[in-house]
Amino acid sequence: MSRSVLVTGGNRGIGRAVAETFRDEGDRVAITYRTEDPGIPGVLAVRCDVTDSEQVDAAFDEVEARHGAVEVLVANAGVTADNLLADMSDEQFRHVYETNVAGTFYVARRAGTAPMPDGGRIIAISSAIAPYGAYGQANYASSKAGQIGLVKSLMRELAPRGITVNAVLPGPVQTDMYDELSPEAKAGHLRSIPLGRCGQPEEIAGVVAFLASSKAAFINGVALPVDGGALGHLI
Ligand code: NDP
Repeated sequence: MSRSVLVTGGNRGIGRAVAETFRDEGDRVAITYRTEDPGIPGVLAVRCDVTDSEQVDAAFDEVEARHGAVEVLVANAGVTADNLLADMSDEQFRHVYETNVAGTFYVARRAGTAPMPDGGRIIAISSAIAPYGAYGQANYASSKAGQIGLVKSLMRELAPRGITVNAVLPGPVQTDMYDELSPEAKAGHLRSIPLGRCGQPEEIAGVVAFLASSKAAFINGVALPVDGGALGHLI
């Protein structure tokens, strides 16, 4: 059955793989992009900066008009702005929080209010480092932990309506965001992954699609690592 799916930050990286996976399953898929519409065949693209709640509401209005009420929301848009504590500016801290935490809140608030039907799904893309922190990523790691708190809170509020809310915690995944890391950081990541390699965007997308499926109807409020074993390795 075709569902109305919205993926924020779906123009590239993990979000794009998620959008293409749902499209290939026959869903009506919309993405938001901030900078450039990549023109993904069969996918509706709407410009939206998730840090602006008015743009979020306008994007939902457009998606609802074209595809019907959003039934699956994937809150994927996210940024890094790495720096060590002494050098991290207010702007770097706020930018990451406004995108990763407030942005996730704005889209989840809109999706979780009136139109989302019974059986709806909200899935946030957090990070495997959220429970541990990361060197030079005080802003990013804490924002990703904040997303998990959001997910677990919204799960309690929305469960009575039959809507599940979960978080996926990717380990290092081969995207532009990963490419920005230093060679030392990449080497450290690889050492921590028992499978000895990075993930691919499609490997995250497959898990998101599963959580959105009826097979995952009883999974609610989880923070699911998809990281080649890195998290288990650290515990
Ligand atoms: P990319 O840097 O490749 O893509 C980020 C996406 O977020 C882009 O589509 C970008 O849009 C969008 N975005 C950023 N800021 C905004 C904003 N203010 N409003 C709307 N969209 C915005 O990242 P990834 O694909 O790697 O990451 C996707 C998610 O996965 C993120 O939440 C990230 O934190 C998480 N993640 C990634 C990991 C990795 O190793 N890659 C590991 C763990 C988690 P635009 O192109 O228009 O700027």
